[in-house]
Amino acid sequence: MSYYNRELKFAIDVVRKASIITEWFRKKGIESFSFKKSDQSPVTLADFASQIYLISQLREYFQDDQIIAEEENIEFIDLKAENLIKQCFEELNLNELEILKENIGYHGRSSERQWTIDPIDGTIGYQKGLSYAIGVGFMIESNPKICAIGVPNYNEEALAIFSAEKDQGAQVSYNKNVFKPIKVNHNEDIHKIRLCHSLHYDQPWVLNFAQDIGIENFIQIDSMAKFCMVADGTADLYIKPLDPEHSFTWDFMPGDLLVREAGGSVTDLNGEGLKFKERKCLWTKPGIIASNSKLQKKIIELIKRKDLS
Ligand SMILES: [Mg+2]
Repeated sequence: MSYYNRELKFAIDVVRKASIITEWFRKKGIESFSFKKSDQSPVTLADFASQIYLISQLREYFQDDQIIAEEENIEFIDLKAENLIKQCFEELNLNELEILKENIGYHGRSSERQWTIDPIDGTIGYQKGLSYAIGVGFMIESNPKICAIGVPNYNEEALAIFSAEKDQGAQVSYNKNVFKPIKVNHNEDIHKIRLCHSLHYDQPWVLNFAQDIGIENFIQIDSMAKFCMVADGTADLYIKPLDPEHSFTWDFMPGDLLVREAGGSVTDLNGEGLKFKERKCLWTKPGIIASNSKLQKKIIELIKRKDLS
């Protein structure tokens, strides 16, 4: 029985519309309208437009809930940027929205009901015309309950929307509102593993380790689409290095729930499940392993035996 049907439907709907916004900017060729955040990571006008839209919808439909969202630098949005966002919303018939710059920094009310928003995950990939995703998650008392992840141009489809609800399984839609269940695969043979790893934020130990244990097949892409590939069986394993300064709830909560609901496992390098506290994703050893459950113990044992430093 679904306990969060309303939240799930909402998340799927807003992720679909947000992806239309991000693709609007990409097709206009203004994806390079970008800025550097204080940590030197890029952010584009499309990140802001997507987040403004997502937060405006949460304010309308779930006004008592808390919002944990990635972007906060409203100073980047000058008049020219604001006008471009307005033009986007008007052309997409989202003109019932007021352009509220303060939506960027709006966190809702402190609540046990918390939404996480990553308006564009994989911004470098987005800027280069490669893979990216839009991720929305919902938690009660920091426990993941639902997620929706939109991945434009997934498997040569215009848009894949992955979603999951706690204890209700995971699903994907390539066509509006037609969802089919997804499951991780059953591969246990290390030599047949297809490993997903990061295109722009990898660390050398990931590939060194993978090659050491005999992995031969690699899928290198940006964004939480890597979790989607493990969840639907396209890949067997995803190894993600973690930087303590950049372990955020919006990056990992949707993919964590999706893979677990598809029958897979997600843990840190010690084999402990991820935990979430407000903005922070918590772990005991800095790295994430997502796999079909059969591989998880084996990979963690192998990682423990290696000196990864
Ligand atoms: Mg982002």
